[in-house]
Amino acid sequence: MRVVIAKHMGFCGGVRRAVDLALRAARNGQGGASTWGPLIHNPQEVERLSREGVRVAQRPEELSGVFVVSAYGVESAVLEAVRQRGMEVVDATCPVVTRAHELAERLVEEGYFVVAVGDHGHPEMVTLKEKLGDRVAVVHTPEEVAALRLRGKVAVISQTTQSLENFRRIVADIVTRVKETKVVNTLCPAITVRQEEALRLVEEVDVLLVVGGRGSSNTTRLAEIGRQWGVATYHVETADELHPSWFSADCTVGVMSGASTPDWIIEQVLVRLDEIRTQLGG
Ligand code: SF4
Repeated sequence: MRVVIAKHMGFCGGVRRAVDLALRAARNGQGGASTWGPLIHNPQEVERLSREGVRVAQRPEELSGVFVVSAYGVESAVLEAVRQRGMEVVDATCPVVTRAHELAERLVEEGYFVVAVGDHGHPEMVTLKEKLGDRVAVVHTPEEVAALRLRGKVAVISQTTQSLENFRRIVADIVTRVKETKVVNTLCPAITVRQEEALRLVEEVDVLLVVGGRGSSNTTRLAEIGRQWGVATYHVETADELHPSWFSADCTVGVMSGASTPDWIIEQVLVRLDEIRTQLGG
């Protein structure tokens, strides 16, 4: 069995920064730290962080200690609840997300209606909608684009973690419908490189192993690329999930991870893969 490990593995810069800021807040602040929902989309790392004092609040009354804004931002209603409680705020919003929002605001100032290609309900899109109101529409599918009444100057941007393929598809659609379209690529380079790497790996491997949270959209997209290309693809959160029957002695396995997968999980997966390789005699 041959194992090819992707070049870009583990946390992206924004997730690493958010985890570091949250840990620092939990250690330095009185009463630990809390986040609104999970800080990152990796349940095992969120569990580890909770043992270090970074608690996940699901209801306003559960907010306590220092409040840490997650890498993709947080809705204004939550920030308001935090302020009312007089909590200290540490902003771990990723600078790439902040930059994308600033760009969108500038486009609106220039008279554009902004179409953002993204996931409904994703904090990054929710906060953008809060900032721009009816000057922005969030769309995810060509059907949603078809339902939009587009007139005047239209700008298209993307959620930073959107799939490159979906962004291209929707841009192509809008360009044919509107006289003046401005396309601003706000995809995060840390995500794009992984998707491009997945496209290269699927040409070379028999099995694609994608490691990361099942609720992580960027991890799920890597697995989707594998499946779209007809490669046997397995999306796992932990090493325990690996099954020897997925592999054979003469297969080539590609290993990738999402941007919120910690190194310690990747290391455990690689150790387990090595055990399976030994069992198979490859
Ligand atoms: S994927 Fe990109 S935008 Fe998202 S947290 Fe990481 S660096 Fe920031």
